[in-house]
Amino acid sequence: MNTLKELSENRPIVILGAKNTGIDFYHFLKRHNIHNFLFYVDNKIQNDKTVSIESFCDYLRKCDKKPYAIIASRFMMKDFSDLCDVFRMKYTEDYCKATDYLGPSYQIDLHNRCNLKCPSCPQGNYTPQGKQEFMPFDKFTSIVDKILLETPNLSNIALYCWSEPFLRTDLKKFIEYVQEKNISLQLSTNLNHDFDIRQIVSLNIDYLRISTSGYYFSTYNRDHPSRRERESYHVISNLRELRRHLDELKCSTLVDIAFHKYKYNIGDDLEKMKLLSEELHFYLTPFNAVPLPIENYIRLCQNDTYLYKKMECQKFINDPISIVRDHQNFKYENCSFANAIAITPSGALRVCCGSFDKKNILTDDICGIKISDIRATREKHKLCKDCRRFGIPHAFETVVS
Ligand code: SF4
Ligand code: SF4
Repeated sequence: MNTLKELSENRPIVILGAKNTGIDFYHFLKRHNIHNFLFYVDNKIQNDKTVSIESFCDYLRKCDKKPYAIIASRFMMKDFSDLCDVFRMKYTEDYCKATDYLGPSYQIDLHNRCNLKCPSCPQGNYTPQGKQEFMPFDKFTSIVDKILLETPNLSNIALYCWSEPFLRTDLKKFIEYVQEKNISLQLSTNLNHDFDIRQIVSLNIDYLRISTSGYYFSTYNRDHPSRRERESYHVISNLRELRRHLDELKCSTLVDIAFHKYKYNIGDDLEKMKLLSEELHFYLTPFNAVPLPIENYIRLCQNDTYLYKKMECQKFINDPISIVRDHQNFKYENCSFANAIAITPSGALRVCCGSFDKKNILTDDICGIKISDIRATREKHKLCKDCRRFGIPHAFETVVS
């Protein structure tokens, strides 16, 4: 860490990329008492801390002292490093990648419920795992303290993995605890139930993901058919409410509409959602849904035709079985999930953020294991071995975007 402090001494720091990794790095700087952050550079995300790539180039042409740049965008990695080259900025000396410094990210389920049953999520396609569970606040704080102590370079904490965090009426205090520690915070919601949006907006959280799969009720209802229209479809009106509260309270939360693509919703629904996200100045991330959790995917790879039919795998844009055939013998080092640590509401450690079944737990209490030991322990677990054998994570990487 001292190295970055030394490298950036007496120079302003700019973060190239204002989405999740950029936000993670911003908090990383604050946690390490590095206060010379100047702005983010991003053409898609506009807020009071962000300038466009063109403005940044102008700045570089005119400035007396070059800033120290952090590339914090996986998809723009090449473009940003080319830009640094054009301005004769040298790797390490003048710029680095955020991943050179950032450590693991964490997903903590505060409870194990959701009001929906999405087809690509274990809440919708997996046997329920026992009774309702709620993480006590004191357990949560001890976990966050441990995380911070053992991984001060952590990327972020997401208060969800397989649950709808906004169903917890006391969510505010969990959010505030993470914010107090200067940790990048991520939240997700389906936005399809009644909750106090204004109260959450007022906390000015960094990143809010809205998980959805349709613009029109008729499309959305395909996979959420148990609810009546009048009661169930709040997503569009809640998105508008969200914008209204953000404006009124002058909050800069990055709202990211995560649109789960299936064969049946990539036409007019996606177009309408694009228009709406532009109108409301929200980010839109369409991605191909895949049949999670990993336990299911492994069964599909083992030719479980019953599950294939039950999950209606024909509706996924990429057939889950044909994808994996091209990705066997995947190497663990390249698994993009390997740096994510998922914790259940009881404080147990999941094998992986993609696994769900209670039998696939590495330890009953995350506080009883050294975080540096998790990776090796996970690698020996049968689920992780099977997952690699079938090349599942690599298949995900290939098909999701
Ligand atoms: S994807 Fe999210 S909204 Fe859908 S069932 Fe799972 S936890 Fe609930
Ligand atoms: S190989 Fe599979 S189970 Fe193991 S960390 Fe990666 S995604 Fe998770």
